[in-house]
Amino acid sequence: MFNIVQDPMLRRAAAKLGLSESMTALLETPYRIIQVQIPFRLDSGELEIAYGFRVQHNASRGPYKGGMRYHPDVNPAEICSLARLMTWKTALFDIPFGGAKGGVACDPTKLSQAELERMTRVFARKLSSAVGPKKDIPAPDMGTNAQVMAWFADQWGKFEGYDPAVVTGKPISLGGSYGRTEATGTGVAMVAKHMCDALGENMPGKTVAVQGFGNVGSWFSLAAQDRGANIVAVCDQWGAVQCDKGFPADILRVAMEASIRREPIADALLSAAGSFRISAEELLAADVDILVPAALGGVVTDSNVNDVRAKMVIEAANEPLTASASESLKDRGVTVVPDILANAGGVVVSYFEWVQNRQGFRWNKARVHSELASAMQRAFDATWVASGRDCTKLREAAYLVAIERVSQATEYRLGISD
Ligand code: NAD
Repeated sequence: MFNIVQDPMLRRAAAKLGLSESMTALLETPYRIIQVQIPFRLDSGELEIAYGFRVQHNASRGPYKGGMRYHPDVNPAEICSLARLMTWKTALFDIPFGGAKGGVACDPTKLSQAELERMTRVFARKLSSAVGPKKDIPAPDMGTNAQVMAWFADQWGKFEGYDPAVVTGKPISLGGSYGRTEATGTGVAMVAKHMCDALGENMPGKTVAVQGFGNVGSWFSLAAQDRGANIVAVCDQWGAVQCDKGFPADILRVAMEASIRREPIADALLSAAGSFRISAEELLAADVDILVPAALGGVVTDSNVNDVRAKMVIEAANEPLTASASESLKDRGVTVVPDILANAGGVVVSYFEWVQNRQGFRWNKARVHSELASAMQRAFDATWVASGRDCTKLREAAYLVAIERVSQATEYRLGISD
């Protein structure tokens, strides 16, 4: 078997909780790794073979749950780490799910819609016995979307009987949840507000720089602005723009529309009075109260961490800080709100989608929003208390809460024959 990437945060929490080496190893490694061949026809009639994976990490607390990504770099080692992260996220939010992740190593931008559909249907067929509303519930991730989930659910239904609860992130007309699109970014803004409150500071007036203006960054910016924050610097992959007075909401909305069309956002942002271009490096080094990396992993490293001037960094993307960059910020007393706490709004509303599908009942947007707000508040409070109300210990605290819950559930369910 290939080497499973170690999880130092798990090991640290396991030592604090007094878990045995064998329990720690059980939590570090996945329950099952599935690899399948995906033969499908290209539009030219030629045969193409892709390889797909599903890693089911831990289901002690409920069915496996996690995204499916289509990307050329998909590989089992990375999918294992991401599946494990899902287990900790669902546990921290006390959602009755475990953790999983999957994907196909392919470049979806090079496939036509018909090719994507054929590939997805073969993948769903190959996984049909391993997934299901009570077994493992996929969701969209990088390179996949509501349409891919619709094909997946339809194909799975041909084998197992149609049930929308087999996937989340579906189109609304197939039982998707209201409020899913904005859930992750809005959840990040809710956590930012809780963090300010816990520190006895005011969110209104806080200056914020946001790296990445896709789904998460754009919805975060609007929701943070609703809570009084001033979005003063924003970037996407093509460029960064600063506006010291703060970008008006209508201009952020035009930028969001450009981002949805996969177009650069700079033109929209530069229409704000007093705005000017800055470099990507300057955005990360902006003199702001809060920095929100919402684009890629590993953007703050040992080589640029000393440039960061923000007093608070909120990890809206997954793993935007390397472990040692995170330690350096901590040593400087910078508050780092970890990804598993900050960006779980999406999986929380995915859970609400599954609940609605199983109830055969649709919640309105206001209910989804208020349930999301309660979930974010509860997870924040649990983390804050576990940290001893120390803003430099939030990551350790979040892992401690999550791993205690998963290890207890795993212990209760271990049978003599296991
Ligand atoms: P997205 O594809 O919608 O947007 C990504 C944004 O980042 C785009 O604006 C893109 O231009 C920008 N970007 C890409 N490369 C960049 C670079 N080098 N410098 C600056 N900007 C760059 O993606 P998303 O759904 O918003 O996800 C963003 C991050 O949040 C990812 O790390 C993702 O894994 C994580 N995340 C997303 C969700 C979700 O529900 N969408 C949930 C949890 C975590």
